[in-house]
Amino acid sequence: MTESVGSPAPSMTPKRKLYVKSYGCQMNVYDAHRMADTLAPAGYVETATPDGADLIILNTCHIREKAADKVYSELGRMRVLKQNAAEAGRQVTIAVAGCVAQAEGQEIVRRAPAVDLVVGPQSYHRLPEMLEQVSHGKVIDTEFPVEDKFDHLAAPSRAVTRRRGVSAFITVQEGCDKFCTFCVVPYTRGAEVSRPVEKIIAEAERLAEAGVREITLIGQNVNAYHGADAAGRSATLGRLLHRLAEVPAIARLRYTTSHPLDMDDGLIAAHRDLPPLMPQLHLPVQSGSDRVLDAMNRRHTRADYLRVIERLRAARADLAFSSDFIVGFPGETDADFADTLRLVAEVGYASAFSFKYSPRPGTPAAEMAQLSEAVKDERLQRLQHEIDRHQAAFIARCDGVTFDVLFEKPGKKPGQIVGRSPYLQPVQVIAPSNLIGEIAPVTVTEVGSNSLFGALAEASPAPGHRPVEAVGA
Ligand code: SAM
Ligand code: SF4
Repeated sequence: MTESVGSPAPSMTPKRKLYVKSYGCQMNVYDAHRMADTLAPAGYVETATPDGADLIILNTCHIREKAADKVYSELGRMRVLKQNAAEAGRQVTIAVAGCVAQAEGQEIVRRAPAVDLVVGPQSYHRLPEMLEQVSHGKVIDTEFPVEDKFDHLAAPSRAVTRRRGVSAFITVQEGCDKFCTFCVVPYTRGAEVSRPVEKIIAEAERLAEAGVREITLIGQNVNAYHGADAAGRSATLGRLLHRLAEVPAIARLRYTTSHPLDMDDGLIAAHRDLPPLMPQLHLPVQSGSDRVLDAMNRRHTRADYLRVIERLRAARADLAFSSDFIVGFPGETDADFADTLRLVAEVGYASAFSFKYSPRPGTPAAEMAQLSEAVKDERLQRLQHEIDRHQAAFIARCDGVTFDVLFEKPGKKPGQIVGRSPYLQPVQVIAPSNLIGEIAPVTVTEVGSNSLFGALAEASPAPGHRPVEAVGA
């Protein structure tokens, strides 16, 4: 079956309101859109609040305990909403999707009986038929079906794509075969699967035709991409980026999240050779200690990681890096943690996320001897302080620089519009609103803690211009 454009015929299907709340990563945001697209032919129209919705979907995240807990407290609120609606003679269906659905299945219905439907990330395309079965009892589907859900998910209409903005995600790869000892992803999202090149190109062309200018390729382990090309050969992410760079109107390309082990020569060279590939890369390292990296089963050392960074910077000197860090992994000593702090300084990240280690049921690290919350809290604070220092240094270096900005939406103040710098920072500019969807040169006149302020410049920087060189140690 091929992808179809999902606008319902208004006279044939009664309108029903759909509220989707997504937790966690960008893949969940993408999935939420695709679920809405798939339900559109059945008459579902998205609404921004759960009040008055006929169908509520919580698209959940299981990566840390806190993320999973949030779902149950939200389900408590949704139960009240459902009860109130029933008293007023209106039926509300509650569905739990995403990684908590996959990991906990039947348990969700036991803990939260108001839930009607539980659907794992590989079965979203079956949502319309599952909803039809809800009147006969609870519906639970957490299979990893052999069919490719992407072949069955409806595409959004042109109008819906436009509404979602000028920057779009495309999932190109799902699942993970790496089995880091702390991580649930290989269990909730399953084995690595890559979508074929031609289907991704077709999706990018459809987005471009509706006004999208920037595409971020997403996957749990996106640079392990190995989708089939037209000749049936396996293509790398570097190859795929070359193909996407040829799609007219797509001016910017990004990809996330990458594993250092899968950073091959072709992908590194793409950063040198492809102007649309933006100079910002999220390359999580998790820890700066070889001992901890080994216990995490990351399968690379600190030196391996630094070599990858060096090769990327040799390919493109202004590449800005971000990372994920976990503090308080079982067995992490003060010396291990000090190695992590040193690594932050050595790389000079433009930004980074840091998390306290959260034991996940069924993963090997959950069985190891755990550190106290107090140790984790203290290390998290120190690491965040170090990251903030480097982020502030990077932002300060943007002051006075001219770079191209892709304008996305109106700003908070009258006459202001907001766009993104090549490094993903929000940039606020007083400029005409018809520039939304366009790329224009901006000179930064003021820097905030997270965003930049600027004025339209006369000319774009010359090709090959490197706006902000690496921060470094
Ligand atoms: N595939 C990516 C990689 O290899 O780095 C990361 C994907 S994961 C969805 C996003 C981040 O969540 C990880 O990089 C890690 O820092 C964090 N994370 C995963 N499991 C965690 C756990 N059990 N406790 C705390 N943080 C965790
Ligand atoms: Fe999880 Fe990323 Fe490790 Fe895969 S590579 S197991 S997604 S942290």
